Amino acid sequence: MAARLPHTPSEQGGVRLLGATLIDGTGAAPVANSEVELRDGVIVYAGPRRVGANSDAGGRVIHLPGSFLMPGFIDAHVHLSMVPGDPEETRARFPEEHVLAVAGVLRTTLLAGVTTARDLDGLTAGYRNAIARGSSLGPRLHLAIAMLSPTGGHADPVRSNGSLPAWATRPGMPEPGVVDTDDDVIRMVRILLRAGADAIKVSTSGGVGSPTDDPNDVGLSQSHVALVAHLVAERGGRPITAHALTDAAVRSAVLGGAASIEHGYDLSDETIALMVERGTVLVPTLSTLLRTLDPATTPADVVRARVLRQERGLDSVRRAVAAGVPLALGTDAGVHPHGRNLAELARLVEVGLTPAEALRAGTLGGAELLDLDTHIGSIEVGKQGDLVVTTVDPLRAIGELADADTIRMVLQAGRVVKDLDGLASA
Ligand SMILES: [Zn+2]
Repeated sequence: MAARLPHTPSEQGGVRLLGATLIDGTGAAPVANSEVELRDGVIVYAGPRRVGANSDAGGRVIHLPGSFLMPGFIDAHVHLSMVPGDPEETRARFPEEHVLAVAGVLRTTLLAGVTTARDLDGLTAGYRNAIARGSSLGPRLHLAIAMLSPTGGHADPVRSNGSLPAWATRPGMPEPGVVDTDDDVIRMVRILLRAGADAIKVSTSGGVGSPTDDPNDVGLSQSHVALVAHLVAERGGRPITAHALTDAAVRSAVLGGAASIEHGYDLSDETIALMVERGTVLVPTLSTLLRTLDPATTPADVVRARVLRQERGLDSVRRAVAAGVPLALGTDAGVHPHGRNLAELARLVEVGLTPAEALRAGTLGGAELLDLDTHIGSIEVGKQGDLVVTTVDPLRAIGELADADTIRMVLQAGRVVKDLDGLASA
């Protein structure tokens, strides 16, 4: 059963995009001088430009010579409710200020070329509803809402003295998914499904930024992950994804039934083989791993520890790629600035993908992971007209797509939501 497609308003009538080099997201060779036709927001033709055909078909015609046309990108790991600002200052804001700041982040992410995003902790279904209704511009949203960990684990914001940090007290934030017993897991998964979760996120290891645990700590057990899998299967199925920083945490998640692993920076060859066997997807969030610390303001031993973790993480992901573990693009945006999601593409090339494979990981690969590949992820007949136009050749200069200004036009269900060169009205 395919997952529910998050709705966005669609363009009614016909749209034809002519003359671009088409990179359809499937990994197929580019098609020069292409034609893509949309009808009521859905692709009805994609291929070489048809000579003389449909010249009087009506609707909007957009000429794109010298441009590259790709599917809208899918970022499978974001935190769009994390808005920039000092935590103490942001806590003093009105709830409306926070909501409108998040609306800005949604728009920024869409205009960077991300037409679908999976928020893995922080956004409620209200944002998804607002986008569906057309009150706010943003990516189609798949939501985990909150993540699951034991008391004191990665999902638990409470400090040792029982207080909450400022970031954990924002209005409208979902309740943390703290679970210790089977009953806790059953109740929390059912609450998340009731709240509209499209995916369940579990933390099978500790985290870097959590108040009281450590990346090497054990998180949710394999049997609790398996219990989550059982519970979602009762309700039509949802993909389970696991925040997992250690090899043991990845094994628990994979054996428990997770469809994907977030981070995975310490994989053994045995675990990699297990992932290949099960088809487990790795979302390496290299944009987060490879963040650099300012040596002027950070103690030398902290910088050294970060560099060591980066080297280990890169080695782990490179071995996974070489062994054939499928990758999907995810950034953990929110942990670092929003709107540079496509910087991850060049990072994926650094760990061994070709540019064409990186583009596929950022489009169809993500759609497969979200179980939405019958609707989005490639430019094929029957799919939504979620499209991105750039003048950068992504197969030669993929790193340039990190700059959102290189994304000249964005369409979502055929509706033009960004048009820097005014091509849609020409
Ligand atoms: Zn994250």
